[in-house]
Amino acid sequence: MKEADLVMNTILEVLNRKYNGSIVLRLGSVLADPTTFRMIFDLMTKNTQLTHTTLDIVTTRSLIKCECGYEGEGITHKGMSNARCPICNRNAKLTNGFEFQILEPKK
Ligand SMILES: [Zn+2]
Repeated sequence: MKEADLVMNTILEVLNRKYNGSIVLRLGSVLADPTTFRMIFDLMTKNTQLTHTTLDIVTTRSLIKCECGYEGEGITHKGMSNARCPICNRNAKLTNGFEFQILEPKK
């Protein structure tokens, strides 16, 4: 998954700059599945100075705002910026679910 790779590279860069053994990450549920993300993280940090880094993931929900007036969770596809409205079945723009933010370690 291309997005997850980009996210992972950014994490590794930050950790290499300021390493304190743990990281807390806010991750949009559309961007990557937390379980998969953790697996990739473990693979990429294996046998590096980050091997023993603990990763905590705070997942944010995917939310849409539809033309029909519906606001709430949409039917999403991983990595896509659009989701289907569960009420009228139209495509709607996601307003939430693409977050990627390193909460700790702070810069
Ligand atoms: Zn709708």
